Amino acid sequence: MPIYEYKCGKCGQVKTVYAQGFGDPEGLACDACGETGLKRLVSRVNYHQSSSDRLASYDPRSRNADSFMRDSRNIGLHAEHMLKQAGVKPTEDFQNKLENLRADPSRVTKGED
Ligand SMILES: [Zn+2]
Repeated sequence: MPIYEYKCGKCGQVKTVYAQGFGDPEGLACDACGETGLKRLVSRVNYHQSSSDRLASYDPRSRNADSFMRDSRNIGLHAEHMLKQAGVKPTEDFQNKLENLRADPSRVTKGED
């Protein structure tokens, strides 16, 4: 189920909505002031998903999708998943490398470590 956040144009209050579909729910109004002109914030909730959340919700089958491969935040996620399945705790060095790669995927081709 998609989660959307809406921001009130009048008072700035942010409202989180569990949407039934992909459109905006009807009758949406600000909890604080009742304003109905709420603007949807783009994927804010998903964007701020922590890496541990990503790992917890990771489905190995999603690895085959193009969108999965294009998202640098998914770099090493499968490796992390396999380690977790095996009950192995990733080393700090491994996690640091992953963080660096996720922040700047071009490091791989630059040969930096
Ligand atoms: Zn408001």
